[in-house]
Amino acid sequence: PRLANQIAAGEVVERPASVVKELVENAIDAGSRRIEVDIEAGGARLIRVRDDGSGIGEADLPLALSRHATSKIVSLEELEGVASLGFRGEALASICSVSRLELVANAAEDPQGGWRVVVEGRQMEPRVTPAPHPRGTSVTVRDLFFNTPARRKFLRTEKTEYGHVEEAFRRLALSRFDITWVLRHNQKIVHQLPASIDTMARERRIGALLGKGFLEHALHLDLGAGSLRLWGWVGLPTHSRAQADQQYFFVNGRVVRDRLVAHAIRQAYRDVLFHGRHPVFVLYLEVDPLIVDVNVHPTKHEVRFRDGRMVHDFLFSSLHRALAEARPGEQGD
Ligand code: ADP
Ligand code: MG
Repeated sequence: PRLANQIAAGEVVERPASVVKELVENAIDAGSRRIEVDIEAGGARLIRVRDDGSGIGEADLPLALSRHATSKIVSLEELEGVASLGFRGEALASICSVSRLELVANAAEDPQGGWRVVVEGRQMEPRVTPAPHPRGTSVTVRDLFFNTPARRKFLRTEKTEYGHVEEAFRRLALSRFDITWVLRHNQKIVHQLPASIDTMARERRIGALLGKGFLEHALHLDLGAGSLRLWGWVGLPTHSRAQADQQYFFVNGRVVRDRLVAHAIRQAYRDVLFHGRHPVFVLYLEVDPLIVDVNVHPTKHEVRFRDGRMVHDFLFSSLHRALAEARPGEQGD
């Protein structure tokens, strides 16, 4: 099982940023209201994700680290319309096969309760000992790839790896405004984002994560048609310093990179004559979970719509209309 875990780890754990994504998705699935991410040395030395979610009980702790142990899917039918982010039960097993992992959790209200389990490269049966922890879970991943030197060698500089971590954090924090987020790198707070879902608070968060300029030249939209709703912010071409990589698209709260979506947005941009401009956007598409599969692959952020054409047309026409109304020089005032 150890080798199988290390092979699986190659799929899920590419670099520190992928560990952050998996641990944070677990924290989100556990219903957390507050998630703190600590990073040292770009994540190669330490990654810690601390949450105030449901926690994990004593008996379930070793189970959480074993392969294909998931508490999230009961039947295959449930895969349709699955709402939780993880469901394969391989992330923690994969991560602990290539790191020194410590899990401390408390599933009860008793603040003195809590249990701890430590594994190093998965070489032994995990032993569970009492350890106080407030309700919730802390996972600490040290020395990523310490036992797979070939992979450790592929880690880039601290700055590059940290950049990937921050980008993963940005996507996650943009996906859930109702959660309070903290990101620290080498003990310094980089982002502290209080939970709030009113529009001004959302815009404050976007400003903090993407820079203030993003919103100064962005159009806020909120459009619905039938069971589809599209809302968010689209950059206008007056934003001359827009970074081309500021493209965030979420489907039912899950970040997605999809050709059909990208095409619809590009097409709408081009039609409104924003020539040569890279579209920048933070957009949220909400659809009936039954007409979309967001769990095609654990890491590739792919999505499969039951009726892709309909979704494409909705995106294109919504954006086209909103952008045309905001076209420079044609505004009412
Ligand atoms: P998956 O998320 O696909 O179920 P993981 O390997 O990521 O698989 O996690 C295994 C299990 O450990 C989860 O199903 C969940 O029961 C438990 N778990 C992991 N992280 C947390 C957390 N932060 N809070 C509560 N439970 C957790
Ligand atoms: Mg998971």
